[in-house]
Amino acid sequence: MSTPAEKFPATDAAPDVASIDAIFKSQQETALRWRRSTAAERIERIKRLVALIQDNTDRIYQAAYADFRKPEPEVDISEIMPVLAEARKNIKKLKRWMKPLRVRPTATTFGTKAWVQYEPRGVSLIISPWNYPLNLSFMPLVSALGAGCTAIIKPSEMTPNMSALMRELIESAFDPSEVAVIEGDVRASQALLSLPFDHIFFTGSPTVGKIVMKAAAEHLTSVTLELGGKSPVIVDETSNVQRAAESVAWGKFSNNGQTCIAPDYLYVHESVRDEFVAAAGAQLEKFYGAAPEQSPDYCRIVNERHHGRIHSLMQGAVEQGAKVAHGGQSNDAECYLAPTILTDVPNDARIMEEEIFGPLLPVLTYRNLDDVLAHVNANPKPLALYLFTRDKATMNKVMSSTSAGSTGINTNMVQYLHGNLPFGGVNNSGIGNAHGHWGFKAFSHERSVVQDKFSMTKMFNPPYTDFVKKMIKFTVNYAA
Ligand code: NAD
Repeated sequence: MSTPAEKFPATDAAPDVASIDAIFKSQQETALRWRRSTAAERIERIKRLVALIQDNTDRIYQAAYADFRKPEPEVDISEIMPVLAEARKNIKKLKRWMKPLRVRPTATTFGTKAWVQYEPRGVSLIISPWNYPLNLSFMPLVSALGAGCTAIIKPSEMTPNMSALMRELIESAFDPSEVAVIEGDVRASQALLSLPFDHIFFTGSPTVGKIVMKAAAEHLTSVTLELGGKSPVIVDETSNVQRAAESVAWGKFSNNGQTCIAPDYLYVHESVRDEFVAAAGAQLEKFYGAAPEQSPDYCRIVNERHHGRIHSLMQGAVEQGAKVAHGGQSNDAECYLAPTILTDVPNDARIMEEEIFGPLLPVLTYRNLDDVLAHVNANPKPLALYLFTRDKATMNKVMSSTSAGSTGINTNMVQYLHGNLPFGGVNNSGIGNAHGHWGFKAFSHERSVVQDKFSMTKMFNPPYTDFVKKMIKFTVNYAA
């Protein structure tokens, strides 16, 4: 396997705007044809993608290792498995999802037949981030294909090995007029965003999400925005502290903390803080040994820029009084930062302001849960909020007083893997949902159709006789 030093260089070529335009136009033609596509045709396209993944797993492992030394089992569980599971779900359910949804007539539409018809939105753009490069490109692609859309994928320039591999694989199985991958940096994104796509599915930071939404507004293109932010964890005094520590240590440090729904920071009740910190430290040693730098199971920060950013978040916090309770070692040349737990972090440290997206866990304490809830509610609505407790009243209180894209109770991260749940954020952490049926709906337009049989609505036509007026008044007061 290659080492990070042998990385495939990121392409710094300017985007070929003419060829992007040509691909887009060819997809518009395909999208018109695909509007009439059957479930069997869509399933055949999804199966092509499945075969690409299954026939190239070794190359996927190699690309993930070259990009940020991601260990093979983590590639299996967080890159390949979610895409294959999503594909299997679509293959099984597509026929049912595509069926028009009959609805009952209402008082004012008595005598009509009505239904919701799911039509493909058309040509879709999928812009993906680097942290789960295959998963976050191909999972939305499954939904797009299931919904009958064509797609152009713009993967991240920060994981050039995986981006190049995805382009090669897609080119081997799809015509560019069906699915295409355009590599490149922000310039490629901008060239794509200037086009009148029918839907944009963007996964990335809230900052870039705003840029994408502004560009989409130019064409009134619909958007799904899967964003990020700071996801808090609350560990109360009734919780199973050992289990909480094990769960958070896994959620926070797999993929080196570079996960949108990873715990960002943690509020633990002051009476169990020391127990939690000791247990989390012991768990990290179990996971990665006494020298995590040597562990094949601990991946790396994606590049020097992010390593420098995360390292300076740690240094800044320490300069303001935070203590390194575990880890703290850094090797700049290797983009390595040990799994690190920080305590006594001041609330105004920069680490408490921006999304950490790396292997640092600030542990803050609380005495009164209301203070934690006030802090959570004073900040943008998180993508995920986690709670470890055995107390039902606390569970209800946290759930009813906060808002978040998703929540894990006595667990973290697994909500992403639950194929029967929607996945998405709220406001700053996202707009719209992905996964399973929700993914299908994100790429579908829900078209309302009413067919007249013996409609009574003409009763309300002029001339407005006393009888008509009475009927209108009756309807105003009682129709639902
Ligand atoms: P990013 O927003 O910097 O980049 C995402 C994509 O947008 C990349 O393909 C990039 O090339 C492109 N891009 C960057 N700047 C752009 C610009 N000015 N105009 C148009 N396109 C631009 O995000 P990232 O660093 O790749 O990923 C990390 C972020 O993504 C974190 O905030 C994380 O929480 C979030 N994320 C969210 C989810 C989710 O499902 N909600 C999943 C993974 C990551």
